[in-house]
This record gives sequence, C-alpha cells and structure tokens, in this order.
Amino acid sequence: MPADLVRVAHALDFACRKHATQRRKGQGQEPYVNHLAEVARLVAEATAGTDANLVIAALLHDAVEDQGVEREEIATVFGEDVAELVMEVTDDKRIPKADRKRLQVEHAARISRRARVLKIADKTSNLRSMQHSPPAWPLARKQRYFAWARAVVAGARGVNPWIEAAFDIEYECAIGAGLAARDFVWHPELETEGDD
Ligand code: ZN
Repeated sequence: MPADLVRVAHALDFACRKHATQRRKGQGQEPYVNHLAEVARLVAEATAGTDANLVIAALLHDAVEDQGVEREEIATVFGEDVAELVMEVTDDKRIPKADRKRLQVEHAARISRRARVLKIADKTSNLRSMQHSPPAWPLARKQRYFAWARAVVAGARGVNPWIEAAFDIEYECAIGAGLAARDFVWHPELETEGDD
C-alpha cells in the first residue's frame, strides 16, 4: 500500500535522526542504524511484507531505550499500534542489568506474537554482530551473551518458523566458531560485569 511505504520511509528517516551519533559496540563501530535496518529487513522478510507496522516498530525498537524518545511521540507520529509494539520490546533501564536480563527472558514468553517476531529478529541481528564485528569481551562473556540470547528466544518461540530458523542458523555458526557453547545454560546470577 503506498501509504505504508511512506510511513516506513518516514520511520527510517526518524530513526536515522534519533540515532545519528550512536555506534554499535563491536570492533567495526558501525552506525547504530545498521542494526535497525537489519532488524527491519528480518521482520519484513519473516512476515513476507504483510506487516508494515512491525517493520516501522523494528526501525524504532531502540529509540525509547537508547535515545530517550517518548512513547507519546511515537504514538503521535506512527500510531498506537507501533508505539505498543516498541514498548513491548523496550527494557526499563532504571532496573539493574541482571534483573533486566532476567525480565527479558520472562517477558519474551508473555508479549504479543508480533512483538515476539521482533524480539527474535533483534537477537538474530545481535548474534550476527557478535560474530562479524565482536566487542572486545573475554570469551566467557561472549558465551554468556549467546546463552542469554538463546534463553530469551526460547520463551518467544512458536510464532514464526522463518525468523526462528534465522536465529538458529546464527547460533549454530557461533557454536562452530567457538563463540557459543551448546550446553551453556544462562542464569541471572552469571551477570556481574559490563552492560550489554
Ligand atoms: Zn536492538
């Protein structure tokens, strides 16, 4: 629908402006919008282009959490449905990191089916970044990150075979590269250092 195309382009422009100075944490220090574009592409492909609002939410999914954009601004510009999707995948950064990570695992099973597709796409993109442009973390911390991402996705499964397969491929690649361990079970008490 032409109107949807205009709204997606608007969201891309909005996201680029809000995240203009933000960089990824990996060695390549890629512009943060690369991640937003990748997540948008993943949800667009996962839904065969049938859910424009989900693509828009993907472009905006870190705007509240990372750039302090107000929910109301997103609701006013892009509508309530998009704002609600964004908030379903937004962490409360006032909560300590270990609790936030535990809450993501718990919440992933309770959010809407569309938000679960977005959540799995987000984690798929992060796993790709961790392999292709890794941050300067010790191996144990990387393995812990992979195990946590898998725990989040475990709760979100059962919504979209395409995106779940995309995540699984990245996880298997990480195991093959020695970055992830198949039998590493994540637990909140493992979270003691850094902020990821
Ligand atoms: Zn993200």
